[in-house]
Amino acid sequence: MAGQSSQPIRCKAAVCRAAGEPLVIEEIVVDPPKAHEVRIKIVCTSLCHSDVTFWRMQVGLSRPFSLCVPPSIDRSDGPSRPKWDFPAVFPRIFGHEAFGVVESVGEHVEDLATGDAVVPTFLGQCTECVDCGSDRSNVCSKYRFAVRAGLPRDVDGTRFHDRHGAPLSHFLGVSSFSEYTVVDATQVVRVDHAVPPASACLLSCGATTGVGAAWKLAKVEPGSSVAIFGLGAVGLAVAEGARICGASTIIGYPCCETVLNVDYNSDHGGRDIQYNTVDTVGKKFGVTHFINPQELGEKSVSEAIIEITDGGADYCFECIGLASLMNDAFRSSREGWGKTIILGVEMHGAPLSIPSHEILHGKCVMGSLFGGVKPKQDIPILAQKYLNRELELDKFITHEVTLKDINTAFDLLLQGKSLRCTIWMDNLAHLRSQHRHGPRILAQIAEQHLKKCAIRTNKMQQSRQDAVDQQVAELRGELRKARQERDRANRGLEVSEWKALASANDRTTIETLEAELDASRESEKRMLESLGMQTKQLEMTKIELEEARIEIASLHDAVHRLEAIAAAAVPAAATATATTPRGGRYERDYQRVRGELRMALVAEEKNKKAMEELVLALKEVNGELRATRQQLARSQHEAETARLESDRLHVSLKRKDDKLRALSDEVARLRADAEDSFAAWRGKESGFTSCMRSTEAELADTRRENARLLESQRSGRDEIAKLRDILKQAVKDTKVVKEALEEARGENAMLRETLGDKDTAVKCTKQELECLRVTEAAARDSVKELQSLLVATSSSPTAAAAGMKLATSSSSPIAAGIKLEMEDSPSPNVSTELPGLMKSYSEARVKPPAGLTLPRRRSDNFEGSVYDIFGSMEDQKGDLRVFSTIPRSLPARRRLTMRKVGSLFRWKSFSIK
Ligand SMILES: [Zn+2]
Ligand SMILES: [Zn+2]
Repeated sequence: MAGQSSQPIRCKAAVCRAAGEPLVIEEIVVDPPKAHEVRIKIVCTSLCHSDVTFWRMQVGLSRPFSLCVPPSIDRSDGPSRPKWDFPAVFPRIFGHEAFGVVESVGEHVEDLATGDAVVPTFLGQCTECVDCGSDRSNVCSKYRFAVRAGLPRDVDGTRFHDRHGAPLSHFLGVSSFSEYTVVDATQVVRVDHAVPPASACLLSCGATTGVGAAWKLAKVEPGSSVAIFGLGAVGLAVAEGARICGASTIIGYPCCETVLNVDYNSDHGGRDIQYNTVDTVGKKFGVTHFINPQELGEKSVSEAIIEITDGGADYCFECIGLASLMNDAFRSSREGWGKTIILGVEMHGAPLSIPSHEILHGKCVMGSLFGGVKPKQDIPILAQKYLNRELELDKFITHEVTLKDINTAFDLLLQGKSLRCTIWMDNLAHLRSQHRHGPRILAQIAEQHLKKCAIRTNKMQQSRQDAVDQQVAELRGELRKARQERDRANRGLEVSEWKALASANDRTTIETLEAELDASRESEKRMLESLGMQTKQLEMTKIELEEARIEIASLHDAVHRLEAIAAAAVPAAATATATTPRGGRYERDYQRVRGELRMALVAEEKNKKAMEELVLALKEVNGELRATRQQLARSQHEAETARLESDRLHVSLKRKDDKLRALSDEVARLRADAEDSFAAWRGKESGFTSCMRSTEAELADTRRENARLLESQRSGRDEIAKLRDILKQAVKDTKVVKEALEEARGENAMLRETLGDKDTAVKCTKQELECLRVTEAAARDSVKELQSLLVATSSSPTAAAAGMKLATSSSSPIAAGIKLEMEDSPSPNVSTELPGLMKSYSEARVKPPAGLTLPRRRSDNFEGSVYDIFGSMEDQKGDLRVFSTIPRSLPARRRLTMRKVGSLFRWKSFSIK
């Protein structure tokens, strides 16, 4: 393949190291193209919105993404962040809109060659698959479009490496933010050399997408109406496409501020373009009607468009990627044939919902990647349209910067200040304008460059020759130096050998170095010998040459002389014929001279031969000299390496010396420390020994004490044994005592039981006794009463009769009870009428009625009778009756008390003093 290069190229590139961080200009290595690949020298590139999208992307997304439509991507950070399916890989080289020249091609690349002016595209066209062969599709099905880290045929591979050899990812298979890039041949389109680089660059992506959408996808017809939603670079390119197609009404709806902020005259390479207001921008791009969102009022944008177009636009383009805007576009399109073309993908992933009845009324929705453009087929057509001044591309370029200011291009795009910012790879600012005039100048520049290269090459060759000569001259000096170095190295080696004996590693190094030195010494010797021989030969040859030269010079002199003589001799010979005797002499002279001349000629011939031989010999000598030079160069190189080695050795030696010095210092320090610590230790030792001695003495004492203690312990043990025996005996005795005690306790218990029995018996007896006493007292009382009655009766006969009756009946306790019943309700008069009776009653020693007992003790002031009542109130009602018969009207100086003792009621009457 022509121009195929197998060398990697070192060049500059703007590398993105992490998402959202400014690009860094780094030196990178670009590998040569592999099979089906092309290496391109990028002339200029520009920043597209997809670069910004992926530059900002922190993580991979999981949904397809429509490229190169300029939405305000800020909104993707909103609550319903879309999910895409592309890896966010870093470090990466961005850029996919570019123009360049093919530097070299890989194997099997047929349609491109070195020097071709090309634009790389993110969409490939293999020209082999069904889709590429059909007019109905522009999406290749063989090498499917994907945002991958590598190339279509080498999905994970890369052709970029940083200066540390680390791989750098590709972007969309283009990666144009680099001076050189490798692109798959299916993604490279050749363009006419006449198209200026900056304009051709726009065909690579943005302009083609917009223009293609109107021209190829929608197929806008002349006189039709077009509504464009979103006026970024793509929206304006749609307007440009619609203008080319002859649309009569082009309505622009700048739903965001992108186009309103365009700053054409900024300090950052803004071009001096005289259309810096909204209206002039629109007019420049062929927009006939502007709808300002702020001026709509109550009306919706679709109503406004329907009003302008009298029923709806024929073609509505959505260039932002918002579902609501897509709906607006659909609503604005004409019933019957209105087409809605979607160029932006919904940035929040929202679905597009469209009323089906409107579809049934003939409206349709469509969309495509890259504006439906087939790169290899359609971009050259667009380029031709540009050259025919049909398609205007230059007006898209609002700013220009160089590669080192690429971050400015990002700022301008993010701030909505630029439509397209051309990034020139060549730093020479004055070349930019020349670039704008087309590849003719480019070719001149290339030619100049080539000339410069040629001159540089010549110079280099010359200087190289000079250098070789100089090298030969310097070789001896170098050799001498090398020898000195070697000697020094030897000495160093000896020293280092001596010093580095400890380290086996160093030893092996020294051995290898020695071997190398020996080898270099030998080669040097050989070289010197050969050099000496050569020099000798050279000197001999020189001498021969000198001799030959002298001979030649002498011969020449002789010839000249002879010729002069001969010239003089001819007239002389003429005169000689006249004068015979003189003529004969001249004739002889002439003959002699002639002979000499012949001889001289022969000698000259011989000399010539000798000269030729000499030249040959010299050539040989020269050849040998060259060989010697080469040998010398080799040996010089060897000497150089030896010198370097010795230098290295020297350095290592110095390092080792330093280390050794440090080590010896350390050793001295350690020794001093050791001595100090030794002295301290000795002091401590003596202390220890004295301490130990005293301890030993103590130990001996302790031992003796111990022995004594042991003895006492033994005797103690014996005593303990005896005591144990005694204890055992005591325990046995205790047991016996315990048993006796148990027996005694048993007996005791039995005795207690019998005692209790006896106690109860005594209680019973006592009770019985009490009863008997009570009855006895009652009996006595009744007797007394009877006696008093008897006395009364004795004083009156009626009373005596009654008293007689009572006396007979009172002989039994029952009779006494009856008597008491009779006195159940005694009147107080009775007691007052009978004071004598009361006195005698108190003194009487009669038994109390049945159920009443006599008081156990009589106090001195006790005058009445005391009765004990047995039983409780509940179960001895009979007795209670007795109790109720207690006389209630006692003399005023008598007091009645009653108390309950257990189940026994007792009442007492006392005389009050
Ligand atoms: Zn793009
Ligand atoms: Zn294909």
